[in-house]
Amino acid sequence: MAIATTNPATGEVIKTFEPYGQGEIDQALDKAQQAHVRLRGTSFADRASWMTRAAELLEAEADDVAAMVTTEMGKTLTESKAEALKCAKAMRFYADHAEEFLAPEADVDPADVNASAARVEYQPLGVVLAVMPWNFPLWQAVRFAAPALMAGNTGVLKHASNVPQCALYLSDLFARAGFGEGAFQAVLIGGDAVASIITDDRIAAVTLTGSVGAGSSVAEVAGKSLKKTVLELGGSDAFVVMPSADLETAAEVATKARVQNAGQSCIAAKRFIVHADAFDEFSKHFLAQMEKTVTGDPTDEATTFGPLSSEQGRKDLQDLVEDARAKGATILTGGEVPEGPGWFYPATVITDISPEMRIYGEECFGPVASLFKVDTIDDAIALANDTEFGLSSNAWTTEEQEIDQFTSRLAAGAVFINGMTVSFPELPFGGVKKSGYGRELSQLGIREFCNAKTVWIG
Ligand code: NAP
Repeated sequence: MAIATTNPATGEVIKTFEPYGQGEIDQALDKAQQAHVRLRGTSFADRASWMTRAAELLEAEADDVAAMVTTEMGKTLTESKAEALKCAKAMRFYADHAEEFLAPEADVDPADVNASAARVEYQPLGVVLAVMPWNFPLWQAVRFAAPALMAGNTGVLKHASNVPQCALYLSDLFARAGFGEGAFQAVLIGGDAVASIITDDRIAAVTLTGSVGAGSSVAEVAGKSLKKTVLELGGSDAFVVMPSADLETAAEVATKARVQNAGQSCIAAKRFIVHADAFDEFSKHFLAQMEKTVTGDPTDEATTFGPLSSEQGRKDLQDLVEDARAKGATILTGGEVPEGPGWFYPATVITDISPEMRIYGEECFGPVASLFKVDTIDDAIALANDTEFGLSSNAWTTEEQEIDQFTSRLAAGAVFINGMTVSFPELPFGGVKKSGYGRELSQLGIREFCNAKTVWIG
């Protein structure tokens, strides 16, 4: 894939970039290693002051940054600005909490281990390669970078090929904030250049957010080199609605959960599983809400969601819809590619879905909702879990017993009751099954790229 900024709202190629050659990659890895040696000798207080400065710069530059994000991948300006501000919040969170999260732990009675002192110290691993996707081009990178830098690691960012300006901006932001050159560097390369970087001795570990295919390739290479990986992969999150729920509110939130970021979110609700006693009422509200959404110019405040990020992304989505239609699904609304420039796609609701349709099992990365009717809570949970993914699940009910059933039996990295899945710096984020492994955010996230070193003193 060419490394280029192409406006998804118009299809216009705005700027292209030469991929880095081996010499530039080598230089970047050297600088990252030198920066790590420097950074691990700095105090939490120093790093916190630079991270806070990065947050301040990002907040001050949020309007320009938002315009850049919207131009590169098509989300609305409102969503782009909210993403920039969320990144600043996460930076402040780790500036404030990193020291406490990584404080030495001395929970063991030294006498029990024949020592005068025994503790666990959390120390940085070194240079971490971060392979990141375009859908939240700031947030995905920052939720890795903020804890990693605060721990004293450095990062090499291989961002998606369609968001090179976002990549270069983040590199520059952390350097300007005080972390200095090399602490978090973008390398403009394609996916084919990733393997040789993973195996390079200067790289200590790898994190990837992206598709199952990319995760699996990266994990294979990292596994052979015995390097730690964190993988945040796809999702096909269920959104279960039970009769006791406030169905109108559930339908409103369901719509937001499906169409935010034009549906291109790993944690977007994708499969709407509704109890038969609530199905007609919920479907009526859900359809009305989905039909109310406005697709169009992402810079217009009246727009609910902008274009998909690429022509290929739209084709993949339409292929899933056509496959379902051909196999007997009912398209309740949407489902047609609009005329005109840009990679727009309307809010779509599909029902009468069966397991032989691709949409039943594959991740649907766009504003297309699959709607299912079930008779019991057991059927709802079985259907919700009948997926190779396990990122998050949503359930709507006011019955305490049902809440317990959902929280204990839904097979996912997170369960959100009476709300949509959202990531917070304060809460761990990650999946099970093919949604990946490891956790980002919270205390768990910052410890992923640390050596939990046992210290025993006789
Ligand atoms: P993708 O194709 O896997 O791309 C993600 C990143 O991996 C890009 O930087 C890409 O580079 C690189 N890449 C692709 N194939 C590679 C390979 N074989 N070896 C090494 N690197 C490779 O994913 P996408 O389609 O752009 O993004 C959407 C996917 O990401 C969805 O599945 C979504 O659910 C998932 N996602 C997961 C999370 C989460 O937290 N769990 C968050 C956001 C997105 P190029 O751009 O150069 O190809």
